[in-house]
Amino acid sequence: MEEELASYKKQLERVMSEQQEAAKMLIRRDLALSRANEQLQALDVAKSEFISVAAHQLRTPLSALKWIMRMLSQNEFRDEAERRSFIMKASESTDRMIDLVNDLLEVDHIQSGKDQFVFKPVNVHLIISAIVSEMQSIANSRNISLVVDLAADMGVSGDPIKLRALFQNLIENALKYTLAGGTVRIVSTIENGFVKVAITDSGIGIPEGQKQRIFSKFFRATNAMKVETVGSGLGLFIAKQVTDRHGGKIWFESPAGEGTSFFVLLPIGYTSLA
Ligand code: ADP
Repeated sequence: MEEELASYKKQLERVMSEQQEAAKMLIRRDLALSRANEQLQALDVAKSEFISVAAHQLRTPLSALKWIMRMLSQNEFRDEAERRSFIMKASESTDRMIDLVNDLLEVDHIQSGKDQFVFKPVNVHLIISAIVSEMQSIANSRNISLVVDLAADMGVSGDPIKLRALFQNLIENALKYTLAGGTVRIVSTIENGFVKVAITDSGIGIPEGQKQRIFSKFFRATNAMKVETVGSGLGLFIAKQVTDRHGGKIWFESPAGEGTSFFVLLPIGYTSLA
């Protein structure tokens, strides 16, 4: 009888300890589910924000286009010159929308992990030289001197299309945010196994209180919006993702009243499995 009681007691203890384990597991699952739920809610908020900002940015060029189309259909122009100038404006609005949609698609690709980087040996010197010759006429038209001093051999393992987009954005920004008569300097060096590119301008600078947000999606500083109304605020976000995927670094310095320098470090001979 005593033996039977002891055996029942043991069984009871085992069942109780199993129940305690099951209860602990349920609590852990419950915590994991609430955490996943919170993450999904945050993702949902971020997606709505993304759609709302994107729609907002598309609305201005679309409204301009609608207005010009109406004028064209009713032939409301003083003369042929005015008609042509409005057609040019319509074409610029369309270009803006295409640029914005391309940036949005790029951001979506990066964030969803769908973005495929194709790594191969690339000479960054050639990429930057090609961009500079394309931008020279814009610099001339704004009376900005473009000074270039590149190391001869800047071989990295990288995705040439993404690297082109990265440097094009930085050089375009330097020109966009520098007033007429200023200077943009592009200098590259080889330092401790890295290609280092510095793009320095004598432009409007980045305000102290807004520096920490400069690589965030859609962020545009207040002074930038005043000098250049066109911009998505997506270029630097993309630039940061591209440098990260190459195992590199991007940062900037913008001492008050002295313009801005953006720096990119890319490891020489880096091979990515991505
Ligand atoms: P966008 O140029 O379309 O606004 P970016 O993502 O390329 O978007 O840049 C984000 C913001 O960073 C700009 O709006 C501007 O405020 C700031 N910025 C970038 N480059 C410069 C620069 N060279 N000088 C001053 N501000 C800059």
